[in-house]
Amino acid sequence: MKFIIGNWKMYPSSLKEAKFIFGGIKKVARGVTRAKVVLCVPALFVAPLVVLGGKSKMSVGGQNCHKDDEGARTGEISSRALKSTGATYVILGHSERRAMGETNADIAEKTVGALRNKLITILCVGEKERDEHGGYFTEVSNQLRASLALFPRNASKQLIVAYEPIWAIGSSAKRVATPADFREMSILIRRYLAEHFGKKAAFAIPVLYGGSVDDLNAEGFLREAEADGFLIGRVSLNPEKFGEVIRLANSVKPR
Ligand code: PEP
Repeated sequence: MKFIIGNWKMYPSSLKEAKFIFGGIKKVARGVTRAKVVLCVPALFVAPLVVLGGKSKMSVGGQNCHKDDEGARTGEISSRALKSTGATYVILGHSERRAMGETNADIAEKTVGALRNKLITILCVGEKERDEHGGYFTEVSNQLRASLALFPRNASKQLIVAYEPIWAIGSSAKRVATPADFREMSILIRRYLAEHFGKKAAFAIPVLYGGSVDDLNAEGFLREAEADGFLIGRVSLNPEKFGEVIRLANSVKPR
C-alpha cells in the first residue's frame, strides 16, 4: 500500500473551501485500492471533513498535538481531542514546527500522547542542508534516535516516517530532491528503524518522501526509489494534481 498524505498547513482559510477541495480529492480517491489517502488538515476542519469523508476510505489527520490529554494550555490541541473529532493520523516534527522551537525531546513526548490515543504518527525528519562531508546523515540519524526515544518497540504499526529535506520543501526550495537522494536516505532510515524495531517490523514501516512533490516528478520516486508514498504540501490543495499523484501511486505495485 502506498501512502499519499497531504499536509494542508494553514490552508485554506475557510471551511467552505476546505470542503470543496476535500470533495474533489474524494472523487479521485474513489476506486483506488493500492493507495491510502490521508489529509492532514487544520484542526478546526477535522470533524466536518471526517463527516464529509463518510464511508470513503480516505482518512483525516492533524498537523501537531500537545503531549498531554488536557490541561491549562491555552491554544493547544491534545491528541485525545484530535482523536475524538475523528482524526486517525497526526504529523509530528514537521520542519515548520521545528523552526518554531520544537525539539526532538518535545516530539518524543508527543509520540507517546499520539500512541496513547491511537493516532498513527507521521514523523518528519530531514536535514537543513546537504554538506559535502555527509554530515546530513548524522543530522537525520540524530533526529530519528531522539524523536523515537520513547516509542515502544512493539508499536511499529503506529508509525510512518516522512523524509523531508528542508532545502527541497516549499516555494523557496533550492531544488527538488532526486529519487537517488531519497533512496540513499531511505536506506539509512530503514537501517535505524531496524535497530529500534527489529528487521521485520522495520521493513513494514512506510518511509515516505516529502518536498515539492507534484504530478510530474512523483513517478520517479515511486518507481526508481521505491518510495512508500509521499507527504505533500502545496499540491495537496490542488485536487487535479494531487489526484494524478494518487492515480500514479495506485498504478505501482506495492513493494
Ligand atoms: C511540506 O511542507 O511538508 C511539503 C512537503 O511541502 P511542499 O510539498 O509544498 O514542498
